[in-house]
Amino acid sequence: MRLMEEEKQYLAGTYGRFSLEAVSGRGAICQGADGREYVDFTSGIGVNALGFCDPDWAAAVAKQAATLQHTSNLYYTRPMVELAKRLCQRTFAKKVFFCNSGAEANEGIIKAARKYGGDHYGPGRKVILCLENSFHGRTVTTLAATGQEVFHKHFFPFPAGFRFLKAGDLEGLRLALESPEVCGLLVELIQGEGGVVPLEKGYVQAAWQLCQERDVLFMVDEVQTGVGRTGKLLCSEQYGITPDLASLAKGLGGGLPLGAVLLGEKCADTLGPGDHGSTFGGNPVACAGGCVVLDKLDEGLLAQVERMGAYLTQQLLAMPRVASVEGLGMMLGITLQEGISGQLAAACLEAGVMVLTAKEKLRLLPPLTLTKAEADLGLERMAKALSGVAPAGTRAR
Ligand SMILES: *Cc1c(COP(=O)(O)O)cnc(C)c1O
Repeated sequence: MRLMEEEKQYLAGTYGRFSLEAVSGRGAICQGADGREYVDFTSGIGVNALGFCDPDWAAAVAKQAATLQHTSNLYYTRPMVELAKRLCQRTFAKKVFFCNSGAEANEGIIKAARKYGGDHYGPGRKVILCLENSFHGRTVTTLAATGQEVFHKHFFPFPAGFRFLKAGDLEGLRLALESPEVCGLLVELIQGEGGVVPLEKGYVQAAWQLCQERDVLFMVDEVQTGVGRTGKLLCSEQYGITPDLASLAKGLGGGLPLGAVLLGEKCADTLGPGDHGSTFGGNPVACAGGCVVLDKLDEGLLAQVERMGAYLTQQLLAMPRVASVEGLGMMLGITLQEGISGQLAAACLEAGVMVLTAKEKLRLLPPLTLTKAEADLGLERMAKALSGVAPAGTRAR
């Protein structure tokens, strides 16, 4: 337990960690320092899209690290261009800006929306509409855009220019859009940290229409829902809408820090020289990993995400204490008959399966490559944890 003591001594106490020291991994199986194997239904919060240490991903990353690891954006490097080309070919994006995290990607779409508003309608058009119960990141500005008070305390004052609406309230949106100050609407199509809450399709399509009519940019935070998580490359495809701006991060680098701002037709040329930047953005090693993620995430794997998500949902619904399962593809939120998700997540780990929570729900974000055998092993362990029975054959701590 020396590591855990040293962590407590040397790291800022920002996290309540589970009691597992992870040492290595393959696919959806994580090896603990305790000698046990854990089934990973978290993928590092939706990051390890291809699971732990996919051999092609690891080879590409190692090769790039040994060839050229960084140059800054003062020079040209191939991996960032290759990745941007893939994103433009497979999404609505006409241009891409690379950064390093979800919060930064959202900062990027916020800056692009404000620049677009100013360019086309003058300096009075800078307000961004956001939804209650949203989560957009931990920087001061993305906190300001986050519609959950619990993240706000201690960190005032916030930058101005964010107004909040209730998800599903079209009349409220219509009213808010009467203001000439509004340049964009920012949504998560499935609110992740807010408890895996999918927005209603009719609402999203109508909201998109209203924004189109007023040239208000439709901005989608796809940091969690993007990169195949829901069974399509972007969750926007599931909703039948084309965003003007979208942010990606989590799964994009396959485990390395990598975020992207996707700029649609309207905003393709909004950001010019000097308007935005990032020292690490477009890092060759991260982008080489990202290229492998996108190449592996073909129609076949996307279809498998959809099938596996449906299978997990069906199996979970048959488990003790499970009241309902929300979400899409492999982004699942489990509502329990009693709201004790925190304790149950710890019990799941004890039973040998790693799971997440979101608000009062258990949340699963397994690697997109999850096999049936891995799924079944994890489900079996979850069922044991949920029924409160100690797992057979596992060592007591
Ligand atoms: C995780 C997440 C973020 C923040 O991403 P970081 O990489 O932690 O900055 C933003 N938006 C959504 C929807 C997320 O799920």
